[in-house]
Formats: sequence, C-alpha cells, structure tokens
Amino acid sequence: MHPTEQILPSKTLEIDALAKKLISEGKDVINFTVGEPDFQTPKNIVEKAIEALQKGLTKYTDSNGIPQLREAISNYLRVKKNVHYTPDEIVVSNGGKQALFNAFSAILNEGDEVLMFAPLWVSYVPQVLLSRGKPVVVRTKFENGFVPTKDEILSHLTEKTKIILVNSPNNPTGGVYDKEILTTIAEIANERKIFVISDEVYDDLVYDGNHISLYGLVSDDLLIYVNAFSKSHAMTGWRVGYTATKNKEIKKRISKIQSHVSSNINTPAQYAAIEACRTDNTYMIDEFKKRRAFILAKAREYGLEYVEPKGAFYLFFKVPGDDEQFCKKLLEKKLVATVPGSAFEMPGFVRISFATSIDKIEEGMKRIKEFLENI
Ligand code: PMP
Repeated sequence: MHPTEQILPSKTLEIDALAKKLISEGKDVINFTVGEPDFQTPKNIVEKAIEALQKGLTKYTDSNGIPQLREAISNYLRVKKNVHYTPDEIVVSNGGKQALFNAFSAILNEGDEVLMFAPLWVSYVPQVLLSRGKPVVVRTKFENGFVPTKDEILSHLTEKTKIILVNSPNNPTGGVYDKEILTTIAEIANERKIFVISDEVYDDLVYDGNHISLYGLVSDDLLIYVNAFSKSHAMTGWRVGYTATKNKEIKKRISKIQSHVSSNINTPAQYAAIEACRTDNTYMIDEFKKRRAFILAKAREYGLEYVEPKGAFYLFFKVPGDDEQFCKKLLEKKLVATVPGSAFEMPGFVRISFATSIDKIEEGMKRIKEFLENI
C-alpha cells in the first residue's frame, strides 16, 4: 500500500474550512482554530524582503540557505538560546514542517519506528508514514499533565526504535517539559543510541517558567534540533525553518534532500529572516501573556478541566462525549470554531487557540460556557 493511503485528511483544516465558509456567509464566527500568531510580521523584517527584491536578489541560492542567514541563525541560537551550532551544521528549509520532514527522511529506513507522544501535532504521523517509517504513538495521561513517564517510554521501545520525537512547548496542550523528563528522555536516547528530533518551534512563547532545550542533554551526534521563525516572529507564511545537527552524515543527507526536493527556500524570505534574527519579539510575548491570563481566568470560572498551558497559544480542555461531535455542534449552534482532540490523537478534548483578541476570547468563552450548560 502506498503510504498516502494511510494518511487521513487533516481534521484541523476540515473545521477551518467549515468556519471560513460560515464567515463568508456573513456569520459572526469566533475562530479558535488558528495555529498562527494574529500579529503582522514586523515592518523591519518585511522591508528587508522588499529591499532584496529591489536589489534583484531573486535567483537560486545555496540550497542549504545563504551563508549570511546560516551565520545569523548560528549567532541568534548561541546568544538568545545558548544553543551552539555552526553555520555548516544548519540547513534552512521551508518552515519547521519541511525541516522535520527532511530529518525523518534522512534517518528512517523502511519500518524504523518513531516514538512520539500524544497529544501531538497533526503532521508528525503523516510525515513519518511518508518517510516509510512506523509511528509509535504513546498516549500520555491528563493526570500526568500530558507528559510521558519513563515507564511509558521504556515499554514502547523496541529493537526498531530509531527516533524519539519531542515537542516542547507542545501543540496542542501548551505543555512545557521540565528538566527531569527531558533528562530522562535524553538518558534513554543516549544509552540506546536512538536519535532525538526536538521540535522547538514554540520555544520563544513560554509564559510560566523557562523553556529548556534538548540541546546539551542529548548527545550531539544523536540530536536533530528543529526551529523556525513562523511562531516566534509572526512569519508563518514566509516559510523559514531549519534543522541543526552536529551529526555530519545526517546533515549531509538533509542537505541532499533539501537540494533535490526544493533547492533553496524563497530567496527574499531568507533576507527577511536575517533581520528576524535581530528583531525583538517581547511585545508579542507580553500580549500572549495577557491573553493567556485572561483565558485561564475564564476557564477556571467556567469549571473547565485542563492542564495549564505554560507555552504556545493553546488551551486544551476536556469535553463531555465525542469531541468531534462537540466541535461540530459548537460551531453550528454557537458559531465557535475549535479543533477536536482526536485530530491530535487525544479524543475527549478540544483545542482552542488564544492567538486572537481579548474581546474575541471573551465572547468565544462565553458561548462555550452557554453551550456546555445546555448539553
Ligand atoms: N511543529 C509544530 C508543533 C507546529 O505546531 C507547527 C506549525 N503549526 C510546525 C512544527 C511547523 O511550523 P512551520 O509553519 O514553520 O512549518
């Protein structure tokens, strides 16, 4: 069977499409499905792309990304995140999404297993299947804050486990792993020589405590670090992400894949990303902080059951009955668009995004409360 036959259409896109249809009909929909900051890309970043276009910087570049951008990312990672990669260890790709796909494709042989923790981002399973790997999904528990336990990890390891995939801060829960679990994962991976792909695309958006990177915990030759400017600098449409690894063989393979699948990413976007590396984003984080405090106050007041999100811009809460039905009915009856937990391999929950204004959050939460009261 071709792997695409195992891949289901994205449930997040389905609900988003229905919400957009209702909006186009003039309905007053509160859209809580969005997975991107509602801010505009900062002007200084946009200007650098315009400048590049005007200078005629519109040709093919080094398929790994222009050296100036890889240099800028290398500095940015070192100064801002204490993550140390040289420009030669970085490959720029079309968003975090392609960075992840490049990493899976570079490591997996047919049938190799990838351990991943649900609730999880919608593209992990399809990407592993497309790379002819086998996703092994560990369902973490609400009671444990959706953080895997050592036993849960160990009991899912086999001879075929090739990669452990970690996403902290997490989409859809907003959970941020603490040092203890990250160290446990790193120790298991280091001892058994399992690769770790660390998806840290939400690392700037942490509101309570600090983000801890797996860089420095996992052995250098086993870690593939993934990040992007999409969430941190409101640049989702620009498509700038990257992998970084000190494993020379894997880096070489990632470069080959990048060069034959896409060549370089959009050239002006690379110049814009250099500017992003020196653009402060605390204004955005401060605004998300306020919204998070607001939505959590409402969630508490309305008695929702959730694990407090420490990062990203999502609240993942328990719902009665079937989550897909819940989302459909909530959209039809109250015009609030949300994403069912089953899209993230965690039925019984719903994800709402607070990447929207406080007014919209207030109205949407009120409608959710009314809907829950009438179930
Ligand atoms: N990882 C996670 C956990 C995400 O939520 C997303 C985007 N929704 C990505 C990776 C991909 O990000 P990008 O837009 O940079 O491709």
